[in-house]
Amino acid sequence: MKNIQMVDLQGQYNKIKSEIDTAIFEVIESTKFIKGPQVEKFANNLAKYTGAKFVIPCANGTDALQIAMMALDLKPGDEVITATFTYAATAEVIALLGLTPVLVDVDEKTFCIDPVSIEKAITPKTKAIVPVHLFGQCADMESIIKIAQKHKLYIIEDLAQAIGSIYTFDNGDKKQAGTMGHIGTTSFFPSKNLGCYGDGGALFTNDEILAEKIKMITNHGQKIQYYHDIIGVNSRLDTLQAAILDVKLKYLDEYCKARQKVAEFYDTAFAEHQKIIIPNRDSKSTHVFHQYTLKLNGIDRDELKKKLTEMSIPSMIYYPLPLHFQKAFGAENYKAGMFPVSELLCKTVLSLPISTEMDNEQLNYITQGVIKAVKE
Ligand SMILES: *Cc1c(COP(=O)(O)O)cnc(C)c1O
Repeated sequence: MKNIQMVDLQGQYNKIKSEIDTAIFEVIESTKFIKGPQVEKFANNLAKYTGAKFVIPCANGTDALQIAMMALDLKPGDEVITATFTYAATAEVIALLGLTPVLVDVDEKTFCIDPVSIEKAITPKTKAIVPVHLFGQCADMESIIKIAQKHKLYIIEDLAQAIGSIYTFDNGDKKQAGTMGHIGTTSFFPSKNLGCYGDGGALFTNDEILAEKIKMITNHGQKIQYYHDIIGVNSRLDTLQAAILDVKLKYLDEYCKARQKVAEFYDTAFAEHQKIIIPNRDSKSTHVFHQYTLKLNGIDRDELKKKLTEMSIPSMIYYPLPLHFQKAFGAENYKAGMFPVSELLCKTVLSLPISTEMDNEQLNYITQGVIKAVKE
C-alpha cells in the first residue's frame, strides 16, 4: 500500500507532470518571472470558472484578506465580525490594520459562522462581516447577505478552503464561493484544493470600481508606473505559480469529485458508529472537502490520534484552539463558555487524510483502523 499522507501532492503532480513541466519551462525560457502573460491568462480563466467578473491575483491568501479590507476603506476602530473557529489569518489582518476583530460562534453542523451570533454582535461601529467557508462548504450566505443589507455592512468571503463550492439561494440562483459578497479572497497554498507550488492568492469581485482599487493596492497604489495615488502593498502572484495554476484549474472539477468520493467512502464506513459523527452536508451548499472532519462523541481524541499514528494513519486537529483563546487575540478578555460550539469543536474534531489521489486500499485501511481504535 502507498504510504498514507494527509495530502498527496506528489501523486497529484505525477499525473500531470508533463503539462506542468512544460508550463514551468516556458516561463523560465521567457524570463518573464513577474507579470508574465500567464498571470492574466490564469486570472481570466479563473474568472470564467467561478463566474466572478474580476479576479485579481496576489501573493497569498492572507494578503488577499488584507487587501480586501484596505480596498473597502476600513479604518482603525471599525469592527469586523468573523468566526472564532477558523484559521488565524482571517482575524490577524483585521487586527493588523488596526480594525477591531469581533469574534462570534459557529454553527454546530456546518462549522461555519452562525448568522444569529453575527446579528447579536453588530454595533454602530460594525463595518464588515468575514464569513469563512470552512473545510469546503459555504457559510449560510442567504442569511448573512440579508443581515449585511439590513445593517449596510460589507461582506468579505474567505474562500481559501472552498474554491469551487456552489451555493444555491432560495430563489434558485446558484453562485460560487467568493462571488456572493463584495469581495472574495482565496489562497493557492500547495495543500489547498487549487494549490500552486509555493504561495499564491487572489481576490474576486463583481464591482468594477473595487476591482480597479484592488489592482492598485496590490501594486503599490499605482495605476501609472511611479505615480502612487494611494498606499498599497507589493503583492503579486508570480508567473511560475500562475502557469502551474492555469494547468491545475482545468482539473479542479475532477479534483473536487475525487475529494467528494473519498468523503463518501468515509461516510459509509462510519455511518453506523454513534461515537463518530460524520460531516454534515448543508442543503444549500456543495461540499468540496478541503478537510474531512469528524466530530468525536465520547471518545478520547488524543488517545485515538495516538493509536492512528501507530498504525501510520495521519490525522490533524483543525483547530485545537479557538481564536478567542489565543494570546494574540486577547484571550484574557474572554471567558470560557462564551462561544460554546467553537470551544466544543476544538476539543472534539479530528480531520482524516483527504486528497485527490487516494485509493480504496488506503481508504479501507484508514476506516478499519479508525473503527478498531475506537472500539479498543
Ligand atoms: C489558508 C487559509 C488562509 C491563508 O492563506 P495563505 O495563502 O496561507 O496566506 C486564510 N484563511 C483560511 C480560512 C485559510 O484556510
